[in-house]
Amino acid sequence: MSFLVMFRGLSRFLRTNPVNVQRRMSHSSLDGKVAIVTASTDGIGLAAAQALGKRGAHVVVSSRRQANVDKAVALLKSQSIRVTGTTCNVGKGEDREKLVQLTVDQCGGIDILVSNAAVNPFFGNILDSTEDVWDKILSVNVKAAFLLTKLVVPHMEKRGGGNVIFVSSVGGYQPMQGLGPYCVSKTALLGLTRALAPELAHSNIRVNCVAPGVIKTRFSSALWENKDIVDELKKQLSIKRIGEPEEIGGTIAFLCSDDASYITGETVTVTGGMSCRL
Ligand code: NAP
Repeated sequence: MSFLVMFRGLSRFLRTNPVNVQRRMSHSSLDGKVAIVTASTDGIGLAAAQALGKRGAHVVVSSRRQANVDKAVALLKSQSIRVTGTTCNVGKGEDREKLVQLTVDQCGGIDILVSNAAVNPFFGNILDSTEDVWDKILSVNVKAAFLLTKLVVPHMEKRGGGNVIFVSSVGGYQPMQGLGPYCVSKTALLGLTRALAPELAHSNIRVNCVAPGVIKTRFSSALWENKDIVDELKKQLSIKRIGEPEEIGGTIAFLCSDDASYITGETVTVTGGMSCRL
């Protein structure tokens, strides 16, 4: 059968089976789901909260500063998104527990965790990084991601399943110059995704990861505000522009939806075509 004949047959099938088309479309809905997104008052976290909220999820946004939380809650409410806000420094155990408890108390359960928070207190040659730098980076970027997952899993199990998403980076595949310890922490998240996915599949919980390229946020402003760096970056990109936070938010929402029901243990690179290999 030629490709053309197959294509015509498929088009006819879709036209005469609108129910099938509708069923597929509704798979992207997150109606009735409760989603915790960490570090979600700006940048990629805020875009993820918007993407999940627009698909019907009740989102719980948080970050360290109350003023930032208030601003994000007001913005999401103005977009008719159901939202709850609280402060949470993910590096602090008591804050993580407060975030989970508040979500359960106010929203009735947890279906989605987007672990998005990360810090980078060091720029330079990796051999100049100190133990304090490593403790801080691994504690916030890796350990907190795991410990928060551990806290939410029992609540997801009570709901019959759920989704965990880690936010890694293209730097987790190819360490960027000057960002050695941060990039190593992002590589660790690829491993954490792989380690958790088979264990949590038994509880109907999928675990996936996104690895953004350079995205226009405050965190990466030192890169995209520098024309020389941008010109250099563009040489590595197929899509010759810096990414937008919404482009990561959409990928996260897809991974949390039933459209991705057979995907677990994966890292999706969203980089405008940068080469990503370990
Ligand atoms: P961003 O725009 O600078 O936003 C950072 C957010 O994190 C803010 O809401 C901030 O609010 C919050 N935050 C910072 N430290 C926190 C902590 N310890 N606990 C809780 N919240 C905290 O950053 P972004 O670019 O969206 O980065 C988000 C994630 O994407 C990070 O994991 C980063 O590694 C990853 N990433 C970014 C890029 C990029 O090019 N932008 C590329 C690859 C990966 P407060 O100040 O109120 O805490």
